Amino acid sequence: MSAFDGKNFIGGEWRPAASGRTFEQRNPARLAEITGTFADSAQPDVDAAIAAAQAAFPAWRALSPLTRKAYLDKALRAMIARRDEIATAITRENGKVLREAKSEVDSAIKEMDYQIAEGVRLCGQTVPVEVGGTLAYSTREALGPVAIVTPWNFPFNVPCRKATPALMGGNTVVLKPASLTPRAGLIFTALLAESGLPPGVVNCVTGGGGSVGTALVGDPRIKAISFTGSTAVGKSIQLVAARHLTPTQLELGGKNPAIVLPDANLDLAVAEIIKGAFACSGQWCTSTSRVIVLEETAAELTERLVAAARALTLGDGAVESSGMGPVCGTKQKADILGYIAKGRAEGARLLLGGAALEDEGYDGGCFVAPTIFDRVTPDMLVAREEIFGPVLVIIAVRSFDEAVAVANGVAYGLSSSIFTNDLQRALTYMERAEVGLAHVNLMTALKEPQLAFGGVKESGAGLPEAGSSGIEFFTHHKVCYVKYR
Ligand code: NAP
Repeated sequence: MSAFDGKNFIGGEWRPAASGRTFEQRNPARLAEITGTFADSAQPDVDAAIAAAQAAFPAWRALSPLTRKAYLDKALRAMIARRDEIATAITRENGKVLREAKSEVDSAIKEMDYQIAEGVRLCGQTVPVEVGGTLAYSTREALGPVAIVTPWNFPFNVPCRKATPALMGGNTVVLKPASLTPRAGLIFTALLAESGLPPGVVNCVTGGGGSVGTALVGDPRIKAISFTGSTAVGKSIQLVAARHLTPTQLELGGKNPAIVLPDANLDLAVAEIIKGAFACSGQWCTSTSRVIVLEETAAELTERLVAAARALTLGDGAVESSGMGPVCGTKQKADILGYIAKGRAEGARLLLGGAALEDEGYDGGCFVAPTIFDRVTPDMLVAREEIFGPVLVIIAVRSFDEAVAVANGVAYGLSSSIFTNDLQRALTYMERAEVGLAHVNLMTALKEPQLAFGGVKESGAGLPEAGSSGIEFFTHHKVCYVKYR
């Protein structure tokens, strides 16, 4: 899988950026190791990719969904066969441990399988109407060339989650993967390319958000934008999209709480919170980043969380014994350390971690120790802003109502959990939680492909991904009235 070194995929060909410029990326576990050279693209490359997607659209749209399925099934079979090889590439450029990278590919496999099946049922409606002798029905129509802009934290699964329904819906795609992790997006593109997709149906352009990303989302030939990334960039895309009324699907940041009530099974709560907070080094949009606990349980829960987090073994994700890998890059590491410094300055008590690991074995990598703060109040920055790293804050409250108010009292609304065996409180929380995903006795990061995935408030806008709304976003409904008598 190296046809794409230094290249974009445009109109069915691997080709360098028009300028010939490239950029390098490095393994976050060992920054001295270059993981690849990628096309440093700009406006002319984006233009060419959109033109290719536009040219390919009429023929691709005209195919039956079953024919489109045949192409995507072939790519899916290749993905299954190459699962371990893809996971190794993800670990090398993203840093997550191999077990997590394999699980990312497994999720992509399940999501692709599900979205292919959704895509063969592009059902409209037939309903009786008042006008006599008239047949009324609706059909689901493709939109045109669509832009897919993706982040570095799930660099393989997010392109797959978005591109599959887009393609099954009859659209053509221009993908812009994150600059920190372009290889995973290129590998996904290569799987599609090798399935024999007609030229231009899928295109992938690497390069910076400020150059490739802005040129792509601002182009009027683009008929829908599916973006996953930070809230700040999502908002800027929404503004640009408004110029041409381009529909957007924005999957953004989170500040996800786990409420622990006194009757909770603490063994379960600790295991799920630790997984939710520190898997992928806390770099999931759905990571658990706030624990909200009633005062009477706070000391015991805190002690157990600290003990469990202390037991995590950090290391290169490619090494079997590593329980947690590095964070994805030097900027990410600096941002996380900046938040830790702010937490200390605000008066939160640092119980664990709080620093980068730089001694032997970790030198030259982006390792941040699992970090836990308690004595955190809801107004502190570390309790309100997305840190996107292995940092967990513990907030003690006096009542269930206060816990719910604190959980909802942030700008974000992506995911949340409550740990309790009290059915009334569990369901009351499900009713009141201002989020896209709510869990009882499960980690905040749990999701399945059959159901919608998206947030509310500053965590997302537009139709969510996955489930049946994944493909709904990429089609519009055309309503037809046919007078036959
Ligand atoms: P980001 O900085 O917003 O970047 C996301 C993507 O947008 C990258 O491909 C980036 O390109 C591109 N981009 C940057 N500026 C752009 C612009 N002005 N116009 C168009 N594209 C632009 O986010 P990130 O740091 O990669 O990812 C972390 C964030 O993603 C976190 O906030 C996390 O919560 C969120 N996330 C959300 C979900 C969800 O489903 N809700 C899932 C995963 C991640 P470059 O890489 O070249 O800068």
